[in-house]
Amino acid sequence: MTPIFTFPDCSEQLALFQSFYDNPVAMIAEEGIVNQLKAQAERTCRYCNKSEPETTFKKEAHIISQMLGKNDLLCDFECDACNQIFSKYESSFVNWLGITRTLIGTRGRRNKVPEYLSGTGNIQAKLNTIMEADGVIVSRTPDAHEAINIDVDSGKTTIQYAKRAYIPLEVYKVLLKIAFAVLPTEDVADYAPVLRMLTAEAHPDLCRFAHIMRFQLPLDQSVTSPYGILFTKRDPLAHCPRHSFIFYYANQVYSFPLPFSIQDIRNGCYTNIKCYFPPPIFFDQPLSFNHVNVDRLPMGSLEKVKGEREIITFEFKPKDLENLMSFDPVTGESKPHTFDPKDILSIFMVRSGRKLKLSKK
Ligand SMILES: [Zn+2]
Repeated sequence: MTPIFTFPDCSEQLALFQSFYDNPVAMIAEEGIVNQLKAQAERTCRYCNKSEPETTFKKEAHIISQMLGKNDLLCDFECDACNQIFSKYESSFVNWLGITRTLIGTRGRRNKVPEYLSGTGNIQAKLNTIMEADGVIVSRTPDAHEAINIDVDSGKTTIQYAKRAYIPLEVYKVLLKIAFAVLPTEDVADYAPVLRMLTAEAHPDLCRFAHIMRFQLPLDQSVTSPYGILFTKRDPLAHCPRHSFIFYYANQVYSFPLPFSIQDIRNGCYTNIKCYFPPPIFFDQPLSFNHVNVDRLPMGSLEKVKGEREIITFEFKPKDLENLMSFDPVTGESKPHTFDPKDILSIFMVRSGRKLKLSKK
């Protein structure tokens, strides 16, 4: 058995989860990791169960969207029609993620980091180079005073913005699609009804079941490439879903069970069913930190969520805010300056260890 680890906060949840689930299968989306694909004529779509000539397989189908990072992980079981439906859901997913892709510097298909503009337009983030250092600049509009807040005494800093509109069920379907892509071929038939639900109109059973657990790690604990791990329950008769999945992107970890295995339903496992969500799981001991942010989110709604507030938090050392200098990048002039957080319109974030190159004036 592969040893697995989690954060101290989550160790009880992991022990409980492991008492029901085992046999992890991992999948990683990285550049250069390529999988063997069947010829188009031999393919069957996992989601609609169609083959040629009923459908086509002309487009490259990515298991994990390149919006979460450039990668070569393709599959041979997603037809063009289903692919098109999933692409539509992915815009909901990206809006739900919010500013993360830009803050983390995720490079997409064209090797570019996306610029971000919040739902109400008061926060903007983009890559920038200032004084020879590459980083991300987060700016607020002059009247959006509450959007960037720095507490001088504690150093606690928040960026507050409204997300762009998204549909929760579409976000859930994107996550389910990734999980079902990890499923071994021999188990696909066991999930036939729910696989059809992914590209069809909302099914009330799926809406009710749609819950995920979201763990938010500190930004500096981000994973470099997105990956997922699928677990199978130990006892086929246990009253919990047959498979459970966990997905990692940047500093976000999402965990959820796979709904409606036919085998589970036949075995009566859905009577008084209990869902066990895996906590963040690592194959090496993770760096420990104080607290893991966790929410259990209902994702079954079809109603567009508009203006959802998101807060990004990080900390300065309060000592660093004393003895500050102001610096004019145009004239190169610098002078002592009393720091007033209300003056701050932009924050420039660089990787730790990088230095801005100041002129000598
Ligand atoms: Zn299809």
